[in-house]
Amino acid sequence: MEDNEKNLELFKAVLGTISNIDIQTSITGKTGLHLIKNGNIDVIILDIQLPDMNGIDICKELRKLDKYKKTPILAVTSFAMKGDKERILDAGFNDYIAKPILIKDFRDSVVKFLE
Ligand SMILES: [Mg+2]
Repeated sequence: MEDNEKNLELFKAVLGTISNIDIQTSITGKTGLHLIKNGNIDVIILDIQLPDMNGIDICKELRKLDKYKKTPILAVTSFAMKGDKERILDAGFNDYIAKPILIKDFRDSVVKFLE
């Protein structure tokens, strides 16, 4: 989930280089949450700042569901304030990727969690 179109295109382009991957995207929290709840997603990538919900609340919501208790959820955010990383990890995210993303690190991180 990412509301910035340029970022979304970049994420899709980078993730598209991973073999056997099926990518589903959403630019809003509500649509994304619906998509995830009704699907069976292996790795979830969440922007923290979305127009209608924030990624932290989405992550907390997903963690309440049995099927997403242990699914890797990665935060992608430009938040850089002290304490933000702790807040994100406390919400149940497995990892935190800073924006602007470093393409190789972003891809490696997703691949690691897909294994
Ligand atoms: Mg955003």
